[in-house]
Amino acid sequence: MELWFLGTGAGDFRACEDPANEEEYVVRARELGGRNLRDASQALIAPEVLIDFHSDRQLVQQQVDTRRIKHLLITHCHWDHFRPAQILAFADSLPEALHVYGNETAEAGLEFASTYVWEAEEKRFAVRPGEANIVFHAIRPEQTLVVGSLQVTAVLANHHVNPETRVMEERALNYVVEENGRTLFYGLDSSTVLPGTMDSLASRRFDSIVLDATFGFLEIDRAKSGHHNFEMIQETVASLRSRGILTEEAVVYGSHVSLERVPPHDDVVDEAAQMGITLAYDGLRVTV
Ligand SMILES: [Zn+2]
Ligand SMILES: [Zn+2]
Repeated sequence: MELWFLGTGAGDFRACEDPANEEEYVVRARELGGRNLRDASQALIAPEVLIDFHSDRQLVQQQVDTRRIKHLLITHCHWDHFRPAQILAFADSLPEALHVYGNETAEAGLEFASTYVWEAEEKRFAVRPGEANIVFHAIRPEQTLVVGSLQVTAVLANHHVNPETRVMEERALNYVVEENGRTLFYGLDSSTVLPGTMDSLASRRFDSIVLDATFGFLEIDRAKSGHHNFEMIQETVASLRSRGILTEEAVVYGSHVSLERVPPHDDVVDEAAQMGITLAYDGLRVTV
């Protein structure tokens, strides 16, 4: 499998474009440019399967052959991962219908966007003309679907849930992706892996995993965050290894990195590597 990190930013990925943002790390990332700039988290399992969609900006910038894209996996519906109107516009540009896979919240969002358009001047919804060029496939945790040449299993992420009340805003998903005996875990966005998810991962041996590295070296209140920092990644990796889910040879990628809270890529990549984390950047292409 070829995994192409198109975007590796967290929800603050627009920070560098905002001239009023003078946060220390943002200013330095802006100065350094290149790998230090990050767009919204999005990946391509080349050539056919996209994961998440904020916009087509990285597809254009990295000159992806979009005519070959046939499938889109949605992890969850936070704005940096899922924008229905933009997905429909992208689907309209494709030669064939785009097959979209996601939870019930994604289904509702796409159904609504397929039905209505927003008339900005009148400030009201109107009926959307024509048919949307998408086919939606609902996927639930523990369900496996064939997606092009891949076998994809959804698992429940520890994200978009209130730990105290246990209100789950949506069923956020992470994905196990298998092809030709190779196994990848795409774990964005998520805090520490849920026990039930750990059990369902236990039947597999992963060659590569992508974990949420939102907060880098920053200490965070785990009760308030649906993400990882580097220390939590190390803990997650240790528990995956202790259960034999991850071999010593497996590569651990960190992605979904905050621009405001984490030093720019160039300043942090070596230290992350010493912690066993290969820090992703926009445009990184790897065989997994
Ligand atoms: Zn996110
Ligand atoms: Zn999120």
